[in-house]
Amino acid sequence: MKAPQLIWHNGRIKPWHEATVNVGAHALHYGSSVFEGERVYATNHGPAFFRLRDHTERLFHSARVYDLDIAYSADDIDAACAQVVLANKLGSAYLRPIVYRSGFTFSLAPPRDTAVDVAIIAIEWGSMHGAAALEQGVDVCVSSWNRAAPNTYPSGAKAGGNYLNSQLIAQEAVRGGFVEGIALAPGGLLSEGAGENLFIVRNGKIYTPTAGASILCGITRDTVMTLAQELGYQVIEQALPREMLYFADEVFMTGTAAEITPVRSVDRKPVGEGKPGPVTRALQRAFFGLFDGSTEDHWGWLTPVTAT
Ligand code: PMP
Repeated sequence: MKAPQLIWHNGRIKPWHEATVNVGAHALHYGSSVFEGERVYATNHGPAFFRLRDHTERLFHSARVYDLDIAYSADDIDAACAQVVLANKLGSAYLRPIVYRSGFTFSLAPPRDTAVDVAIIAIEWGSMHGAAALEQGVDVCVSSWNRAAPNTYPSGAKAGGNYLNSQLIAQEAVRGGFVEGIALAPGGLLSEGAGENLFIVRNGKIYTPTAGASILCGITRDTVMTLAQELGYQVIEQALPREMLYFADEVFMTGTAAEITPVRSVDRKPVGEGKPGPVTRALQRAFFGLFDGSTEDHWGWLTPVTAT
């Protein structure tokens, strides 16, 4: 991955090499950071953020869980996101706002005045698993690693430390020749991918694990559920056993980075006909249609990238 050019860091645009972190930073030692992943799409009306405020709100919610005080308002963060996209002259982008405890302390209950920094990185990035993955689907496995139990570190907060678990899931999958791993929740029921939510289609109905299954409630998950209902599908959030993956007509994963990635096999067993199915395709069309204008944005999900 190519390093970004200009970073928004604590209120200023800086060159990449100047946007640095101290080796004593609390976040480096203990994972005390929270972050977002969000996109700007090229639309007919110019570059537009997708659900920017929803991402910013989730960033603030995640920060509250770990008592990370953000010295900026949600409006400031939204404006900073636009500033970094414009500074880097990006027509489409993946953005990574991050809030991290930058001050030095070895305390696990850091004093409230320990410094907290904010940075926003913007890069050009296609779909996480590549363009071919969106077309042909990916091969996944069920991970030997579980997601964290709800009373450990909460999956609903998008914190840096959670991604140690995601790394174990993804690295094991890739080592085994798969593109991604799907983890089970502590009770043995389906949870989500290392960096994606999970959907299963069976007999024309769409199923997805509930928030109680140690998932991050994805903004793309919510988008897909909304679009699916608009297209007339029944969407059911429920506890799902692993074997549903093997009975499924279609499986797909969603995320800001992964967008809507069809799954063509699980544990080397083909899903349906071993290629993306009609419901997944319809949802991809509806989703990407938001950006080429073929799906009307009734929800105000798109906001132009403008300087404020
Ligand atoms: N689960 C995990 C663990 C993730 O990292 C992500 C990516 N942020 C998602 C789900 C999908 O969330 P979203 O659609 O908001 O990007």
